[in-house]
Amino acid sequence: MPRRDAYTKVEKTDQIRADHVAGMGDVAFRGFNCLNATCTQWIVVRNDEIGDAFDIPCQLCGFIHRSGDEVTFYNFILRDLKEDRVIEEGEFAILVNDYLDEALLFKYCIICNTLKPLDAFDRHAARKTQRQSECRLCKRVYNSIKNQTRTADQHREAAQKRRLYIELGGGQRLDSAVVFERFGGNCFKCGIDLTPVDMSGERHLDHTLPAVFLWPLNTENATLLCRTHNSEKGGNWPSEFYSDDELRRLAAMTGIDYATLKGEPHFNPKAIDRLSKPEEVDALLTKYAPYMDEILRVRNRLLDASGLDIFAVSTTVSEAWVKRADEGRS
Ligand SMILES: [Zn+2]
Ligand SMILES: [Zn+2]
Ligand SMILES: [Zn+2]
Repeated sequence: MPRRDAYTKVEKTDQIRADHVAGMGDVAFRGFNCLNATCTQWIVVRNDEIGDAFDIPCQLCGFIHRSGDEVTFYNFILRDLKEDRVIEEGEFAILVNDYLDEALLFKYCIICNTLKPLDAFDRHAARKTQRQSECRLCKRVYNSIKNQTRTADQHREAAQKRRLYIELGGGQRLDSAVVFERFGGNCFKCGIDLTPVDMSGERHLDHTLPAVFLWPLNTENATLLCRTHNSEKGGNWPSEFYSDDELRRLAAMTGIDYATLKGEPHFNPKAIDRLSKPEEVDALLTKYAPYMDEILRVRNRLLDASGLDIFAVSTTVSEAWVKRADEGRS
């Protein structure tokens, strides 16, 4: 594939630079929870300041994480059941050094100014942290501008469109940890293990009943999929994507009716209910007026599928919009 970056250049103005990030693009930090069991503080220290002998105080509770120290969580007695005797008694303790050794490494992204796990950055062998200075997300957005795969306007529009569908579906109340747990950390379609840290970019939460039919993305309606299967599922109804076996399993795991999953695509009745109210429709049209194309598509799909015409419900919609929408139906 020919590279296009030879003849485009991205010029930056008004870049936001945070003082605490200046010079930090190649500095690794260790992040860990205070080891004092009653304390919730998250502690971040420069990795190169830890060294062999360290004394790291908790800013919140004052607990000192000192090299060589142990923290005890319970006392144990190891018993031999056959001979009914005590083999050993002692303390269950964690060595502070071991705890810090396995703590995750973090680094600042010099573009979005946030501290992220090293795994959020592509590799760069010549650097101390062995990672690039900008995070993968910032790099992706940058490349999409540079290669014109997605213009800034499209980017804004995609975000706005997502917001519109979240609102149409009745909000987003999503506990992704619960969904992750429910699917055992595996892609529901292919079963690939999505738990390793370097798989974080592969974890996708799919609208089981799709957003185009105005179903919300909430904890009940989310399926854990890998990137590939999420993009294959797209706006399809479950019955159009999963086998019968999978539909039965999905019903058991999500609590969504098997008949609903197996049945014909249909609109979320709660959303239809709301869109039958003039004040709801008017508020929506005002808010999303700059994204009228998407509103027109929703109006026409709803009208064709359920007979509900949100433009007839509205008290403020203009003739011009109705005309444009009607032209789009043929
Ligand atoms: Zn603490
Ligand atoms: Zn970034
Ligand atoms: Zn998959």
